[in-house]
Amino acid sequence: MTIRENVLRVKEIISAAAIRSKRKPEDIILLAASKTQPVEKIIQAYQAGVRYFGENRVQEGIKKIEQLKDYTDIHWHLIGGLQTNKAKYAVRHFELIHSLDREALADEIDKRAKKIGKVQDVLIEVNVGEEESKYGVKPSDLERLFEYSLSKENINILGLMCIPPYFEDKEKSRPYFAMLRDLRDKIEEKFAVKLPHLSMGMSHDFDVAIEEGATIVRVGTAIFGERK
Ligand SMILES: *Cc1c(COP(=O)(O)O)cnc(C)c1O
Repeated sequence: MTIRENVLRVKEIISAAAIRSKRKPEDIILLAASKTQPVEKIIQAYQAGVRYFGENRVQEGIKKIEQLKDYTDIHWHLIGGLQTNKAKYAVRHFELIHSLDREALADEIDKRAKKIGKVQDVLIEVNVGEEESKYGVKPSDLERLFEYSLSKENINILGLMCIPPYFEDKEKSRPYFAMLRDLRDKIEEKFAVKLPHLSMGMSHDFDVAIEEGATIVRVGTAIFGERK
């Protein structure tokens, strides 16, 4: 399968899942998770119509952003965990950071964004499975981090992100996606805000995530093939 064929198939699955959940296919953003992929493959995905790309590591991402700077309509997102000392570079180069998960990072993003006159769009990453190995704020600490980040002038919170535990059976991811949606709904009510985005769902379960309200799906393997 070529990257073009993969993109077309992923888009068909997105459309079908959107229609099943009574939403518009065009309201769901396909973000290609391009970590470890060379720019040649990113260009192939671009040529198949993908405009959103997510990188995990700041340095690797910046290198590609610079190599692809002529592709001015690409939206670059940071989807991997972010070290505080790299926030400065993340703010400078990425449109949306999916991985705000602690107060110290909110402080740093706010400070660095202020310095360059930017309001940084972010998602708060929630560790829905409460796994030691994963980034993300614990569900029970989410409201506090939300309130803290909301008070930052140079941070704009657009929603929540999660990476649930991995299950062969994608149906087992469903309760975690539903949990993220419920957490979002509670925050919207309690703080009288709108959080339009839920970033959830990867290659093996993005259709389930869409059924549970995902607005951004992060798809790597199903577009680019297995990573080396
Ligand atoms: C790699 C990655 C993805 C995509 O994973 P696939 O299973 O290859 O689709 C999505 N989100 C994050 C944060 C990732 O690191």
